[in-house]
Amino acid sequence: MNSKIWLSSPHMGGGEQKYVQEAFDTNWIAPLGPNVQGFEQALQNYLKDVHVAALSSGTAAIHLGLILLDVKQGDEVLCQSFTFSASANPIVYQGAQPVFIDSEEDTWNMCPKALEQAIEARIKAGKKPKTIVAVHLYGMPYKHKEINEIAKAYEIPVLEDAAEALGSSYYNQPCGTLGAVAALSFNGNKIITTSGGGALVAHEEALKNKAIFLATQARDEAPHYQHSHIGYNYRMSNVVAGIGRGQMEVLNDRVKARRANFEFYKKHLGELPGLYFLPEPENSFSNRWLSTVLIDSAEFGEDAAAVRQRLEKLNIETRPLWKPMHLQPVFEKYPYYGESVAETLFETGLCLPSGSNLTEAALNRIVDAIGAKH
Ligand SMILES: *Cc1c(COP(=O)(O)O)cnc(C)c1O
Repeated sequence: MNSKIWLSSPHMGGGEQKYVQEAFDTNWIAPLGPNVQGFEQALQNYLKDVHVAALSSGTAAIHLGLILLDVKQGDEVLCQSFTFSASANPIVYQGAQPVFIDSEEDTWNMCPKALEQAIEARIKAGKKPKTIVAVHLYGMPYKHKEINEIAKAYEIPVLEDAAEALGSSYYNQPCGTLGAVAALSFNGNKIITTSGGGALVAHEEALKNKAIFLATQARDEAPHYQHSHIGYNYRMSNVVAGIGRGQMEVLNDRVKARRANFEFYKKHLGELPGLYFLPEPENSFSNRWLSTVLIDSAEFGEDAAAVRQRLEKLNIETRPLWKPMHLQPVFEKYPYYGESVAETLFETGLCLPSGSNLTEAALNRIVDAIGAKH
């Protein structure tokens, strides 16, 4: 049997162990220490003109981001439906109500038209939404100009979910710096990983400090333990931040490798009838975190599910695209605005193996397997 080809597996650069060893050598085995500051600094140098708080996960970053944007019990939050559940779960943690928005075909991200319709309808119904959660899915930037124009006109801040988009940019501006606040993720399958981790990105140092305050149990200045806010235990540990420092040294290589995977698939499969790859809109640069393909079953002769099952038998892992939140049992009671773009993407799409550590032999195995019947 051929060895397993994974969808997206961790890829260490070699420099990580030095930083982790330093944490052990100096006994900084704590949720603070020089690696945490070093990792935050590396992210700030990369993203430029922002302040970064390293946290235990991307989900924690989204949760704190909502709190910083003053989302409270009973508020409404507009959220891209076509995403991973962690974009929406923290809205419910806050006792707020998600309102889901369909995608557009150009980027697969939040549709500006559906967004504006939703805002108008919610205001008419008596409540102005508090925040917009927009996502750069699979690394493709959402239409920031259009979304931001609407956000400004209605004075609703954007929480940018850049969990999948470190290394992507929009008109040369890095993803992770476009929203009022942004969330990054360093989970095991992301473009760089700390095994598990995340970060909140802010434009003012005061917001970063507030995020760190809330992430470390909201302890007031006092010799004893004094609290006037509800706190969380969301800070990144100094051990895993060492992995992050090493990963930042190879981030640009990881982006190159992921983009090369996409180009390889497009070159070798793009001519087959019924297979469609999402082009980069002008002035958008995607890290191509995951390479994805849409399959027209009538033209291709097989639907996405059949291709996935066939590849699974050949020990090649692929995955359906994210199932939209408005179709999830846990979220289906919440309002939804749009048509069936996200639903159709879910039904016809497939994520292909996309690790930055895929060998050319593995890539050839994948394209041969997909194209075998054609
Ligand atoms: C991974 C991911 C998250 C959550 O990040 P974690 O670090 O796993 O908590 C949030 N949003 C999107 C779109 C993601 O892909």
